[in-house]
Amino acid sequence: MSRPVNFSAGPSMIPIDVLESLAANMVDYEGTGLSLIEVSHRGAVYDKVHNDTISLLKELMRIPDGYSVLFIGGGATLQFSMLPMNLMLSGGSADYVNSGAWAKKAIAEAKKVGTVNVIFDGSEGGFKSLPDPAALKPSAGSSYLHITSNETIGGVQFKSFPETGDVPLIADMSSDILSRPVDVSKFGVIYAGAQKNLGPSGVAIAIIRDDLLERSSDSLGAYLNYSVHAKANSLYNTPPAFPIWGIKLVLEGVKARGGAAAVAKENDAQAAVLYDAIDSSGGFYSCPVEKSVRSSMNIVWRLAEEDKEAVFIKEASEAGLIGLKGHRSVGGCRASLYNAMTMEGVKRLTSFMADFAAKNG
Ligand SMILES: *Cc1c(COP(=O)(O)O)cnc(C)c1O
Repeated sequence: MSRPVNFSAGPSMIPIDVLESLAANMVDYEGTGLSLIEVSHRGAVYDKVHNDTISLLKELMRIPDGYSVLFIGGGATLQFSMLPMNLMLSGGSADYVNSGAWAKKAIAEAKKVGTVNVIFDGSEGGFKSLPDPAALKPSAGSSYLHITSNETIGGVQFKSFPETGDVPLIADMSSDILSRPVDVSKFGVIYAGAQKNLGPSGVAIAIIRDDLLERSSDSLGAYLNYSVHAKANSLYNTPPAFPIWGIKLVLEGVKARGGAAAVAKENDAQAAVLYDAIDSSGGFYSCPVEKSVRSSMNIVWRLAEEDKEAVFIKEASEAGLIGLKGHRSVGGCRASLYNAMTMEGVKRLTSFMADFAAKNG
């Protein structure tokens, strides 16, 4: 069976051995005689998957003591709402960096809860750059400072993070979680939808510094309350068992590859090959993003002749290179090189790009 190389932004490529393991164990989970998705979430079989997944994430991200790892349904989008509901102090305000499409959505939800200070606004520059993290300082009285570590649509990525002192730093890491080592102790909350770097869709992960759980008000709906999830070890209600199982297998694969640092090296090498193909194309292809903040996960580019972009995407797809259409809000081309991507896949793309440029240049 020949599978296409999947450059989709999310849901995205899942390692083939993970898919095979899910398939092989779907009906009879590891010899238990039943599927994992038909047994009690309070039984021993599921419990082990649940807790192994949490332990593996703690190990691979070096999450220090004093943080809780939560599984919450609703994707990163629900976190846009839950975060301000739980963490904005009453009558308070929070700082947001407007770095692109996802930050804008986070800001829109936070505005429904309290006052938002947009401390950097990249919209005038078309979201092609990011602020210097050292220049990002929290406003007086701010409940937290929120960034989007990697903008999946615009292709900009923070390479280092602001120092925010006593004000908790919050990051939406949906599209670059576990793609590189990160010092978790610098953050109050890290959250991410699973379906880019971690596994199947259907769950978000929230990593929360435990003292912040005290901010969650009892008046919140139970499912919307971080503290409720933390106290119940994410078993307040039936958890999304299937995606959590998939995440466990993905994390085992990351561990076998040598962890976040080893994966980061491979990711950077793959991104460098693709950016180089764009930059050395004599202007046939061009990347609009400022070099210092180019994402190693989502690489965006245009063709000098924009009317050829649709042909490029169609012919690439016929050649087994799929998911290269830029987000509908921005157009152009995009390749998502998440952890599951291989150098072989990237080289198939760059060789297709060279051929296409030769034929159409
Ligand atoms: C995909 C994405 C989201 C939205 O995730 P859902 O799980 O679909 O809600 C939010 N933020 C970023 C950075 C993303 O890439």
